[in-house]
Amino acid sequence: MSDLCSAGPAAASDPEKEIEDALLHHRIRQMGRKLLVLSGKGGVGKSTVAANLAVGLARAGKRVGLLDVDIHGPSIPKLLGVDQQQPEMVGGELRPVRVNHCLGIMSIGLLLCDAATPVIWRGPRKFGAIRQLLKDVAWGELDYLVVDSPPGTGDEPLAIAELLAGPKSCDGGCDNVQALIVTTPQDLAVADVRRCVSFCRMLNLPVAGIIENMSGFACPGCGQVIDLFKKEGGRRLAAEMGVAFLGAIPIDPCVVVGGDAGQPVVMATGQSPAANAFSSVVQLLLKSPATSVADTAKVRLPVAGPQNNLEDNRMKIAVPVENGRLCTHFGHCAEFAVYDVDPDTRSTRSMTMHVPPPHEPGVLPAWLHELGANVIITGGMGQRARQLFAENAIQVVIGAPPDPVDTVVANYLAGSLQTGANPCDH
Ligand code: ADP
Repeated sequence: MSDLCSAGPAAASDPEKEIEDALLHHRIRQMGRKLLVLSGKGGVGKSTVAANLAVGLARAGKRVGLLDVDIHGPSIPKLLGVDQQQPEMVGGELRPVRVNHCLGIMSIGLLLCDAATPVIWRGPRKFGAIRQLLKDVAWGELDYLVVDSPPGTGDEPLAIAELLAGPKSCDGGCDNVQALIVTTPQDLAVADVRRCVSFCRMLNLPVAGIIENMSGFACPGCGQVIDLFKKEGGRRLAAEMGVAFLGAIPIDPCVVVGGDAGQPVVMATGQSPAANAFSSVVQLLLKSPATSVADTAKVRLPVAGPQNNLEDNRMKIAVPVENGRLCTHFGHCAEFAVYDVDPDTRSTRSMTMHVPPPHEPGVLPAWLHELGANVIITGGMGQRARQLFAENAIQVVIGAPPDPVDTVVANYLAGSLQTGANPCDH
């Protein structure tokens, strides 16, 4: 189980890491509202949406940072016309490339020596690179950080969501993170968006809303809108999944022309249907509340309901056990307690003990999923393991104390479980 957590609390006492963590959290506190732009699959216009929203917010006078963590296909520098520029390094800090006085950008693409060579990095390396970007880039005070991450629910979105959410002890703004999900209108995209919303719910990441891109084609000749990819799929999904619908952006040749010229189309508001639609989304975002720390705490409460992916009214909590107490090294524990919980009364119906299969990366999440678990309460857990649990629709509660397991579960169900830092956050 080398890929899963094996580090102990020693990692947290490394003085160099403590200094780095403090700097990281200082940077994150300065970032204001953080919008993480996600999509279930590539090519739906996620980067286009991220670029246009960042430019639109900056045009509204907000201080905006646009961060591109698409390690394999960074397109933000090109979309903003700064792909030939190099970020400055001043006193050990990276300065974002300035598009104007309100908007700065940083992209992994601007730091790569050779844009033509593909990046082949495994998960932990990606996590390290994203963490370093968040720590080293001196944005200064921002009103908004817009993040363009690669499509899907892989390493990069997971890393950025977790890093931006910050530690629970970080008061004053570290929780101010929301996802924006971009989709196209056709039915095919439905499963992708569902996966994206589930991913956010597994991570307790609030969803600011869904944006339907490529929603009809506005004919430049006659202005008639033709529904090339059907219509309203995004709106229907948003209603079905209980998240806000932020708007529909039509297919518009000006988007492509603007993207190629490094001038996002929203700059042409009044002259292009897509530009007008982007402006409307920006206005909605400006009016919509950023998730406050209190709201996010509410989402974090262990209530049974859609946000815990318990639509089927089922709740099973797994806890790694050693000598009757929660075992803080879940990857090395000899047995697991699985509690069957009545989600309505939030009381336990039964508890069974299970011996896990031999350690192999990915085995425990799949095994616990087979046992029906949809929550795991643990002391520490590494980033890769958390991702594997999310993929198995199991919500992870990290930082629980090594108390008797019954007490841990009772406190969790009462909403009074005290959790600390993740000793495996490396
Ligand atoms: P993703 O980030 O999801 O992979 P991109 O933002 O790179 O997608 O967009 C893919 C392509 O689609 C680009 O060529 C972009 O210019 C084009 N595109 C995106 N949205 C629109 C739109 N509303 N109208 C026309 N072309 C669009």
